[in-house]
Amino acid sequence: MRKYTSFDLIEWGRPFERRTNELRAPEGSEVLVRVTAAGLCHSDLHIQKGFMDLGQEGRLTFAERGASLPMTFGHEIAGIVEAVGADVARVQCGQQVLVFPWIGCGTCEACYEDRESDCSAMRIIGLKQKGGFATHCMVENEKFLVDIDGLDAADVVPHSCSGLTVYNALEKMGALRKGEWMMIMGCGGLGMNAISIARAMGIENIIAVDIDNDKLDVAYKMGAAKIMNSQRKDAVEKLQKMANGRLMGVLDTFGSGATARIAVRAMSKAGRYLLVGQAGGDFRMPQVWLPQKAMTVRGSHVGNLPQLRKLIQMVRAGKIKQIPIDRRPLSAINQAVEDLEKGRVTGRIVFHPDQNLS
Ligand SMILES: [Zn+2]
Ligand SMILES: [Zn+2]
Repeated sequence: MRKYTSFDLIEWGRPFERRTNELRAPEGSEVLVRVTAAGLCHSDLHIQKGFMDLGQEGRLTFAERGASLPMTFGHEIAGIVEAVGADVARVQCGQQVLVFPWIGCGTCEACYEDRESDCSAMRIIGLKQKGGFATHCMVENEKFLVDIDGLDAADVVPHSCSGLTVYNALEKMGALRKGEWMMIMGCGGLGMNAISIARAMGIENIIAVDIDNDKLDVAYKMGAAKIMNSQRKDAVEKLQKMANGRLMGVLDTFGSGATARIAVRAMSKAGRYLLVGQAGGDFRMPQVWLPQKAMTVRGSHVGNLPQLRKLIQMVRAGKIKQIPIDRRPLSAINQAVEDLEKGRVTGRIVFHPDQNLS
């Protein structure tokens, strides 16, 4: 039998390890993808540690979420279709595809309505099913593949998680009126894509916020109208001024107690706070503010297949400015994890399997 290579987590909290596996042929509706690009997401750092920070509630472990080791993680996956099962009708060998990893249970109301991101029993590729930190990835059905022929796989691959996540949140946020402002908190992979996609959706009054001035410079180049380092003591007052008292939307791609604290204080009455980042901690604010400020606080988790198809159409139409991509060989995954952890990455790290790997 043929073999393929993956970089797997064997034990929570330990580095990824190279492993050789048997490569089986796809059956039925399955599609075998030869991976050419796999993005490294901040969630992969939480996954490697094995838990998320629930503040005073302690930790939520990925074992509790149904993930078991050893496992191949990596949920931003693009590649070339190498083989298809007998029931596959649309996708063809040699086609370049982007994998939609947010597969739902398939039998609940959310799944029937194409809202798989609201499914409570998701079977995510790169968490519960084997993912993209490998030379090959088996996808259970061709419907979870989006055609990206003619596009650069490494450029496009972050849209399956970071792009899609912020697109879903921006759709929930809704349009701004003339003169209203939106703040995007955190200028990592999610935040950069948020600026780019918000601009593509016609939103121009964007204030980008981070604690890293170099990232803020890139955020400005990506299309933010204003930037602010949130470490300044008067951050709340400064934001209110920058938005002329009309900060009506916040998209928080970092998601910590510190970002929430600034967001709920800086927002104007009837503002919407959309949270997608999962740095963790506790979300605290005076409860009367919810009615007094007529505030909306809403979370959004990943995104849905129709949204990913729309997003790729927007990319093809040239509407979305490309975020910086830091291309690295897959064998350097542990160094990449360390660089992302320490905030040394601008934009998104995308792996390609090393040439000598099969
Ligand atoms: Zn992700
Ligand atoms: Zn479901």
